[in-house]
Amino acid sequence: MIFFVCLQVQQYLEPFQLSEANLRDVSARLSKDLDLGLGKNTHHRAAVKMLPTFVRATPDGTEKGDFLALDLGGTNFRVLHVRVVEEEQKVLKMDSQICAIPKEMMLGTGEQLFDHIAACLGDFLISQNLKGQTLPLGFTFSFPCEQKEIDKSILIRWTKGFNCSGVEGKDVVKLLKEAIRRRGDYDIGSVAMVNDTVGTMMSCGYKDQSCEIGMIIGTGTNACYMEEMRNVRRVEGEDGRMCINTEWGGFGDDGSLKDIQTEFDVVVDKTSINPGVHIFEKMISGMYLGEIVRLLLVRLAENKLLFKGQTSEALRTPGTFETKFISEIEEQVSGLENTQIILTKLGLKWNSVDCGVVRLVCDTISSRSADLCAAALATITNRIRTNRKLARLKTTVGVDGTVYRKHPKFSEKLRATVRRLAPECDITFLVSEDGSGKGAAMVTAVALRILIHHI
Ligand code: BGC
Ligand code: MG
Repeated sequence: MIFFVCLQVQQYLEPFQLSEANLRDVSARLSKDLDLGLGKNTHHRAAVKMLPTFVRATPDGTEKGDFLALDLGGTNFRVLHVRVVEEEQKVLKMDSQICAIPKEMMLGTGEQLFDHIAACLGDFLISQNLKGQTLPLGFTFSFPCEQKEIDKSILIRWTKGFNCSGVEGKDVVKLLKEAIRRRGDYDIGSVAMVNDTVGTMMSCGYKDQSCEIGMIIGTGTNACYMEEMRNVRRVEGEDGRMCINTEWGGFGDDGSLKDIQTEFDVVVDKTSINPGVHIFEKMISGMYLGEIVRLLLVRLAENKLLFKGQTSEALRTPGTFETKFISEIEEQVSGLENTQIILTKLGLKWNSVDCGVVRLVCDTISSRSADLCAAALATITNRIRTNRKLARLKTTVGVDGTVYRKHPKFSEKLRATVRRLAPECDITFLVSEDGSGKGAAMVTAVALRILIHHI
């Protein structure tokens, strides 16, 4: 019975199962897109934006001081006070606070959003007794921004469920400073804008000098890496390196992934608040994985391959199958029990075959996510290796994000696939310790060190 059902279910899962040849092909396409994103005359239209970050150096251990950090665009909005201690080569989180951002605010006006951010920061400064000081601030803003300088950062577009009016095309630093000025009760020092991938790379770079890639697989997905300046055609200068925020989530936005997009991916994209953009991200990250699984379960039930052909109101409602359910269902020891609890909570009548099928669906969707990330990461490590004309590259990737951290098999799957796709690269994975907080402070500290050096 279970064998027969699985055979039929397999027909629906097959489009999600990418062969090694498929993945190599995806990697080759991404490799071309990285060039287009870096090119002087091609970057305007490129799907993979390859944004300069103006981060040219990783920490050298002489950084020090007190910093504020803001972290917007991950699971929570946070305000932090971070101290970088020179002698001990340590980044200490003194304190931090999570501020909720209500759903309505994510879709409201930019002014409301920035007033809220300024208010949270103000409350935090009072609670920390920091109000009279003007501390430098690292702003981890995890959205694609066209950076002109470390402190000038224009939002290209919102992603991951945010859609505040009047922010796209504007300088985020200016909007933050204006909101603080409207209050008039405190001030901040110089600001450094940081993508979360960059914060992640820098927070690991403090510990491991060979960390030159940062990767996030959480609510959204993205990576940054140190590129040779001579290849960054859109920024003056040939010497040294600069960290490039790839924004690989946008891979496929020009239609280049049509052949691997399934009908379910198409629905997820069409029903999202940003249809047509971040196609790659929508196949990979936490904001979308649960929804892909839900759509598949509904289809399998409609075709009588699950739950005796019955669905439930909950299962038919978009967003009800959370991505964290996938992790719980795939858990080694408690997975089966978790599956039963989750299906019952969703109002479904299940038997043991159903549970097996649901676990197979989750495994297929999370495996594809890990494989696609691996293909993208292999593209970057192979690129760094070729840049430096090395036969073998030894490098470290700083990683963060709920999917990578919480899914029981994701990191292992990712590693195994990268090993196959980039056999000439020895990659160490380091889970970042609060890249969006401590890492942002580190970027600010490095920027200040270099600035002070130059005056
Ligand atoms: C954003 C990136 C960010 C990533 C991970 C994506 O949606 O465009 O800037 O790094 O999510 O948070
Ligand atoms: Mg984060």
